[in-house]
Amino acid sequence: MKVVAMYPEVDLGKCTGCRTCERVCPVLAVKVVEKKATVDIDRCRGCAACEQRCPSYALTMARRAEPVHVGVAVEPDMMPMIRQICARARIHPEYIVCYCTATRAEEVVAAILKGAATPEEVSLATGARTGCKVECIQPILRLLEAAGIAPRRAEGWQWYGRTATAWEIPSEVKRRFSKRGFYFDDDIKLLEKVAGAPPTEQSCGDV
Ligand code: SF4
Ligand code: SF4
Repeated sequence: MKVVAMYPEVDLGKCTGCRTCERVCPVLAVKVVEKKATVDIDRCRGCAACEQRCPSYALTMARRAEPVHVGVAVEPDMMPMIRQICARARIHPEYIVCYCTATRAEEVVAAILKGAATPEEVSLATGARTGCKVECIQPILRLLEAAGIAPRRAEGWQWYGRTATAWEIPSEVKRRFSKRGFYFDDDIKLLEKVAGAPPTEQSCGDV
């Protein structure tokens, strides 16, 4: 859950229409129309990425008259499905996906079950990824994928695809690195225990 207290004001005299703000907004709240930035205040989650990146200093964060509370309720009847999706992603439902907003994996999955199908829609619904905007993209992509949604690049926002997890390291690589003191299978078993996920074939020792 996030309390959104700020929004960006645009100085149209300074805005050159470069579209940097449009590209960096994690919830696609900025559009450049006729070479001037316009902000959809209802979508804005107050992260200040646009203000920080604007090369012309045309954006200034201002306080909202009233703060907006953003979050998705985790309904008890969603829990069986949430547990299933989290287990598939090897992430415990109570794991904090976004430290900036203290958003847990269960809330991200609740947002997905309510229709969020991209990282931007997850961010819009939960507020996750509107703090540092860096750490939480990978677990969000993994949870979307575990829910059967293929990661795809949204217009504007930049992310670099899901990185490989411990479960995807080929046996040959694990074998080679085990001689140098890497214990991938032990790590996988521990991670599965923490995530409350059933063991995979890999963690049962395919090496
Ligand atoms: S980044 Fe700044 S100059 Fe560029 S379009 Fe946005 S507000 Fe205008
Ligand atoms: S969510 Fe962040 S980047 Fe997007 S308009 Fe609001 S403050 Fe700017």
